[in-house]
Amino acid sequence: MDELRELYQEVILDHNKKPRNFHALPEPARKSEGYNPLCGDRLTIYLHVKGDVIADVAFQGSGCAIFKASASMMTSALKGKTLMDAQVLFERFHRVVSGQGTAEELETLGSLRAFAGVSEFPARVKCATLAWHTLKAGLENKQTAISTE
Ligand code: ZN
Repeated sequence: MDELRELYQEVILDHNKKPRNFHALPEPARKSEGYNPLCGDRLTIYLHVKGDVIADVAFQGSGCAIFKASASMMTSALKGKTLMDAQVLFERFHRVVSGQGTAEELETLGSLRAFAGVSEFPARVKCATLAWHTLKAGLENKQTAISTE
């Protein structure tokens, strides 16, 4: 668990300070919005899908460090991935942050493993998963804004 704790510190602090893909995308990007009223995290996800590939993904928003680092790492992890791969990663990430992931699933997450420690803090799970839920809504082309409540 010490290795995970170090990773958590290192990766989350870094992505919070220098979020990747932190900008809007020009039209005709798909847009989806998410809000976590419990913490105040709020974001817009921009998506370009070509065929079944996420050609580009970016975000804008504000909130806590866990939220921002999660959105930053998610966009980095998903760019260039197929929709199928994105769905698999979404499900794995969700299980790991809610404390239900297997050791194998944890291993396949790469630096996203840093969020495994979040499972110890149920209120922060929403911070860590907000961007993912919002992205999923964007991929499914849902028009409604996503709220974690
Ligand atoms: Zn938060």
